[in-house]
Amino acid sequence: MENRGVDVDGLELVAALADVVGAAHVTSGATVNPDDTGDESLTVPSGAPRAVVRPSSTAEVAAIVDLARHHGFPLTPRGAGTGLSGGATPPTDGVVVAFDRMAAILELDTANHVAVVQPGVTLATLESALAPLGLVYPVFPGELSASIGGNVATNAGGMRAVKYGVTRHHVLGLELVLGTGEVVRTGGRFVKATSGYDLTQLVLGSEGTLALVTEATLRLHPRPPHATTVLAPFASLRAVSAAVPAVVSSGTDPMIVEYIDLVSMAGITQTAGIELGIPDQVRDQALAYLVVTLEQHRLDRLDEDVEALATLLASLGALDVYVLPGPAGAALITARERAFWAAKAAGANDIVDVVVPRASIPDYLERVGLLGAEAGALVIGCGHVGDGNVHLSVFEPDPEACHRLVHAIAAAGVELGGAVSGEHGIGRAKRDIYVAVEDPAKLALMRRLKRAFDPAGILNPGALLPPTPPEPGTSPTRADRERGAPIRAGGASSRAGGAQEASPA
Ligand SMILES: Cc1cc2nc3c(=O)[nH]c(=O)nc-3n(C[C@H](O)[C@H](O)[C@H](O)COP(=O)(O)OP(=O)(O)OC[C@H]3O[C@@H](n4cnc5c(N)ncnc54)[C@H](O)[C@@H]3O)c2cc1C
Repeated sequence: MENRGVDVDGLELVAALADVVGAAHVTSGATVNPDDTGDESLTVPSGAPRAVVRPSSTAEVAAIVDLARHHGFPLTPRGAGTGLSGGATPPTDGVVVAFDRMAAILELDTANHVAVVQPGVTLATLESALAPLGLVYPVFPGELSASIGGNVATNAGGMRAVKYGVTRHHVLGLELVLGTGEVVRTGGRFVKATSGYDLTQLVLGSEGTLALVTEATLRLHPRPPHATTVLAPFASLRAVSAAVPAVVSSGTDPMIVEYIDLVSMAGITQTAGIELGIPDQVRDQALAYLVVTLEQHRLDRLDEDVEALATLLASLGALDVYVLPGPAGAALITARERAFWAAKAAGANDIVDVVVPRASIPDYLERVGLLGAEAGALVIGCGHVGDGNVHLSVFEPDPEACHRLVHAIAAAGVELGGAVSGEHGIGRAKRDIYVAVEDPAKLALMRRLKRAFDPAGILNPGALLPPTPPEPGTSPTRADRERGAPIRAGGASSRAGGAQEASPA
């Protein structure tokens, strides 16, 4: 196997990959399923990988990495492909490593409140396994078909982040295959450890650029059995966002605090076919809505909290306050989770996932409104306002004008002390904007870290950061390959740019 090159038409590559995982688990050319060539990004076109390979074990993943670094081709890890930033979209000379065959829940350790899972396990599968045990893995990004590997790589958030935090707060340990082919285990079934660099946290949010995640140890929580959703219409977006700090610090410990603007509310309720029963005279004055979900272990305490919250919202200027019965509340939350599909169906050209400090949301949304008006583009949205993360849909059909506007919207968030992405990741979609607005010293440090994990630059090049040439000596020369020599330290690279991105970002 070691002497096989990467043939132009991919045939030898396929044979080499088949040696690792079995022929049934490699596709190439016309046999590649189009679903494997991209994600849900609105702006990053699907790629055309040389092959898609489906390993079933850590050893197989390590063998694929060995093959890639030996022959200098890039690997793009893929979970469920629900990403919104083009992170799982492969370059044309690359190989997709799809993790759907590594989808086992290895252990539910109820004594230590821990789940040990393979990366392809979906959130829906985990939720079904935990519910009967009275436990919950509390990270609920809007798409439950997403995989744990993808969640780790994007540091996924979701509506419950205001109470529970994001993926990084619930990952206790990882098994990783580095770009060197080494298998490393980080963390474990414990909630604190002070020794050494925190490699688990370094990989969280690294978008497949530092390591391939082959196992995750997740922290579980007791599942509160009671929840109620409260809906409050407000006369302005500023009034909604100004209410948020008071709601968060009200002592009711909200699980969900979302805002939905007028147009988005109309879109998501219409798409979901739900009727909220808001009287016309209130609806006519409402320009934005606040949605708050509370949960509790005891029903009487939940009732007390709901009453306190309703009083607070009224004092903060809500036009009215509606306590939605269980199914109506759940339907609204589900409809809100599907806001992306409603925006896509309405023809949105791009989406924004900027995060700003919670208290800066009113100023930020005002600036976004001005930027949209200046550009003559419609910008609407909703978002996890409780944690400062807004999801805006941008309707501007000219791609360059749209990119300029999205750049300006992101830069405005960064100026207010925020970040380009609150939870979707940078991927290929927001990479240029990210690089333009980030501190160059921080980007340089990230590149050095990337080189330590992945000296040959084979792991998801082009996602998060622009591709960089491999470290000298990490990519073998033709002579090395012909004699099957291992990768040397200090040798010259045989491929200009090594695993450079071949497809446009
Ligand atoms: C309707 C809808 C709603 C959404 N709502 C939210 C939300 O509320 N919050 C949120 O955070 N996200 C949300 N998302 C985005 C998406 O679900 C998340 O980004 C999710 O984490 C992606 O998981 P995935 O398994 O689909 O990963 P993919 O899309 O397959 O990949 C995402 C990234 O992870 C990398 N990757 C995947 N598996 C591995 C692995 N085993 N090792 C290393 N790298 C890997 C990929 O290379 C890529 O860079 C939403 C998406 C949709 C379609």
